[in-house]
Amino acid sequence: MKHPVKKKYSITAQRRIILKMINASFIQAQKLGAHPLTKGCNCIVCVNKRKRIIKGPTTDWKFKL
Ligand SMILES: [Zn+2]
Repeated sequence: MKHPVKKKYSITAQRRIILKMINASFIQAQKLGAHPLTKGCNCIVCVNKRKRIIKGPTTDWKFKL
């Protein structure tokens, strides 16, 4: 009998994994301190900076008079 390659996690388990990853990235950011965007760095600051670069700057004015 073949076992499925992909492991299925429950939603709570998935959330726990994501929270652990976020927590680890925060700890890494604290350890590294202030630093420029580094390739391959998984700290929360670099991840957010990378996200902003991918998304592009938001220049649209969201409010209407
Ligand atoms: Zn970093």
